[in-house]
Amino acid sequence: MTAAKKILALCGGVGGAKLALGLSHILGNDELTIVVNTGDDFDHLGMRICPDIDTVTYTLAGIVNPETGWGRADETGSFMEALDTLGGEDWFYLGDKDLALHVARTHRLGAGQSLSQITESIAKRLSIGPRILPMSDDPVATMVETKTGTLAFQHYFVRERCEPKVTGFYFDGIDNAKPHPDLLALLADQALDSVIICPSNPFVSIDPILSLAGVREALRDCPAPIIAVSPIVGGKAVKGPTAKMMTELDLAPTSVEVLKRYRDLLDGFVLDERDLDDLEQIKSLVAHVDVRDTLMLTLDHKKTLARAIIEFSAGCQ
Ligand code: GDP
Repeated sequence: MTAAKKILALCGGVGGAKLALGLSHILGNDELTIVVNTGDDFDHLGMRICPDIDTVTYTLAGIVNPETGWGRADETGSFMEALDTLGGEDWFYLGDKDLALHVARTHRLGAGQSLSQITESIAKRLSIGPRILPMSDDPVATMVETKTGTLAFQHYFVRERCEPKVTGFYFDGIDNAKPHPDLLALLADQALDSVIICPSNPFVSIDPILSLAGVREALRDCPAPIIAVSPIVGGKAVKGPTAKMMTELDLAPTSVEVLKRYRDLLDGFVLDERDLDDLEQIKSLVAHVDVRDTLMLTLDHKKTLARAIIEFSAGCQ
């Protein structure tokens, strides 16, 4: 029998959740912890909404909308229709079933439970095996600085459809937010096998996690290999504004530029096979490189990639 593994994945929403799902299929429940960005969280219509945690939760529970990669499958929109009739704010779509999660969470937060406790209990209700941890139980709000002013993340992302030109980011509340204690404990755990930075947006999904007090230091001191999977495939983002943000920040939309953001932390990097032009430069920046088809279109592909990444990370010591 092989020894149990201990894998930590750092993750945002749609892109990260795809790999997290693959990992969850090839690892035992106790072998995988997924730490999720909460910088996207916001208060809306009186509810606390945690888009990345919800995407990871729905994906791992097998109930995510396969078309969008977020929200629930087989969803209905009666609430939004009624809200629209009443003249309510309707720029952020909330399906009827999805709404139940936000209501339940908001109610429990109001009763004094922590986001971690609520996330864990919802995951249990939905029969999810691996642990899903919010990066912090304290509120952090990603703010997007644009040429036309500063926007709260969801206003930029959903209401303004990522149209304003980005000039920078900051994370409101980050100085007072404590990283989840189990994140720091895992990073110091001698038995940890690897840390996988999922193919998530480096600026608004991974940076908030890395910006929490002590996390970069803990990663630097972590005895386990740390590897990142490129969210850039063929010089483009698969979905979302990663490449657009890079261009607007005067960075080339390449894996090289993604790698540079984590360079001080990484032992290995997974490059997509469509970006071989970047290979030599990547090799000069990180000790170990693996080239793969990272476009995760099917569950089989997610599992194959997850297995390959775990094998690769074991060789990155
Ligand atoms: P968000 O918070 O919902 O935007 O999700 P993430 O930050 O986790 O993921 C967004 C990133 O995932 C984008 O940069 C995409 O290019 C990347 N992404 C999405 N699907 C895939 C995929 O199948 N393979 C790879 N390599 N990257 C992907």
